[in-house]
Amino acid sequence: MDWYGGIKMKLKSPLEVYRLLPQTNCRECGYDTCMSFAAHIIDRTAKPHDCPPLFRDAEKNPIIKKKLEQLIELTSPEISEVMIGNLKIGGEDVLHRHELTFFNPTAFFYDVWDTMDDKELDERCSKVVEYKKFYVGRFLTLDGIAVRCTSNDAAKFKSVVKKVAGYGKPMVLISLNPECMRAALEEVAELKPLIYAATEHNWRDFLKLTLDFKVPVTIREKNLDKLKNMAATFKQAGASIVLDPVTEPFGLKETYERVIQLRRTAILGGDKDLAHPIMITPIAAWLVNADKVSKAYWETLIASIFLVKYGDVMIFRSLEPYTIMPTITLRTNIYTDPRTPVQVEAGLRGINNPTSDSPVFITTNFALTYYTVESDLASGNIRGWLLVLDTGGICVEASVAGGYFTASKVKGIIERTGIEQKTNHRYLVIPGLAARLQGAIEDETNWKVLVGPVDSGRIKGWLENNWPPKE
Ligand code: SF4
Repeated sequence: MDWYGGIKMKLKSPLEVYRLLPQTNCRECGYDTCMSFAAHIIDRTAKPHDCPPLFRDAEKNPIIKKKLEQLIELTSPEISEVMIGNLKIGGEDVLHRHELTFFNPTAFFYDVWDTMDDKELDERCSKVVEYKKFYVGRFLTLDGIAVRCTSNDAAKFKSVVKKVAGYGKPMVLISLNPECMRAALEEVAELKPLIYAATEHNWRDFLKLTLDFKVPVTIREKNLDKLKNMAATFKQAGASIVLDPVTEPFGLKETYERVIQLRRTAILGGDKDLAHPIMITPIAAWLVNADKVSKAYWETLIASIFLVKYGDVMIFRSLEPYTIMPTITLRTNIYTDPRTPVQVEAGLRGINNPTSDSPVFITTNFALTYYTVESDLASGNIRGWLLVLDTGGICVEASVAGGYFTASKVKGIIERTGIEQKTNHRYLVIPGLAARLQGAIEDETNWKVLVGPVDSGRIKGWLENNWPPKE
C-alpha cells in the first residue's frame, strides 16, 4: 500500500459552504445571514440540517440535491463518528488540537470478566459508575465497562453481560468467539455495545454479527495493509468501525508508529478506509511480568502516550487513583476547546457563610481568575459575597479593555442575583485591574465602588484597612 507522507488539508472555508447554501438570508436557521450560518457550519456549532429550506428545495430540485450532498460531504468530519450506546467517539478533523479543536474525548472503559464472582463484579462496576472528580468547574467521570469473555461459555458470557448492562454504562463486549458474542448480543444489542474484535480469522462471522445486530465493531490487526483491506470490506457493507492496530507493551515504538501512520493516512492522505476511530488497550500492560503497582504505572504511561496521539477509545484494568487521576486530567486538558476560554457559570457565590454585613466582591467568569479569587477568599477565612460576571471567559484586564466588563453588565448582575436583598450596605469591591470603571459603575448602579487590590492574594490585608468602609 502506498502510505501517504505529504502535507495536505481538506479545504473548508465559510465561502465554500456559502456557495452551497440558498443565499436568501431567510433566518430560518436562527442566524442573520447565510454567511453567518456558513461560519458556524465550519466550527461545527451548526449542521446542514439546521437550514430547512435547503432540505425542502432538495426534494424538488436535483441541482440543489447535488449541492446538499456536496455540503454534507464537505462538512462531515475526516474521522467517522461511532456511537457506543449514547457515547460518541471519533469525529476528529485535524491532527493537532491547535489547528481547530478535538471534539469527542477519548472514551475510557474498564474491564470486568465473566469468571469473576458476583461481589467482585459488583465492586468494579460500581467503582466505574460512581467515580467522579471535580475539576475546573465540572465533574469528570468514567465512560463505560468492557466485559471480557474468559469462560468461552456463551451462556455464562450472556448472563454476565446482562448483569453489567444493568449498571447503565456504555459497554464493550470482548470475545473472539462469534458464538459467545452472538449470545451476548441477543441480550443487549439494543444498547449498541462495541464488539471486540474482528480479526483475520473470524472477520466473516463478525461482519455478519455487526450487520445482524447493527452494532459497531472493532477490527484488530497489526499489519496495516490487512487492516485496511478488512476495514474497506466492513465499510462497504455499511458497518460502523473502530480500528485496533494492537497495543504492544513490549513494542511501544512500533505501536506508536502504526497509530501515527493510521491517522496521518486518514487525515492527510484522505484514505476513507482508515478514517475511523482508533482503539488503544493500555490494559495490555498487565501482560508485563511485574507487580500490580508497576503494571498500573505502565498502563498509565501507555494511556498518556496515546491520549496525546490519537486514541479515541481505551480499555483499562487499573481503577487506582494513580492511574485514573493523571489520565482523566490529561484527557480533559487535551479535549478543552482552545477557541473558547475556560469559564465557570456566572452568578453569585457565598464564601464562608457570608452575612448581610459582609463585603461584596466582583470578578469575571474566566476559570483561572475565578478559582484564584475564590480560593484566596476561602483560604483567607474571608466571609464575603462574590459576584461572577459573564465576560465570555475573559480575564479582568482584557475584559475591561475589550468591553466585556462594563458598568451596565455590573448593574445587570446586581439586579439578577438579588444581592441587594442579601446585604445591608451598598459597597462593591472591584478588582484593581478594573479601577477605571469605578465612576461609571457608581453612576450606573448607585453603589459605592471600592477599588480592591490587583492581586486577590492581597484582599485579606486590604480588608483590614478598608472594611468596614469608613464613610
Ligand atoms: S436557513 Fe438557510 S437559507 Fe435561511 S439564512 Fe439560514 S442558511 Fe441561509
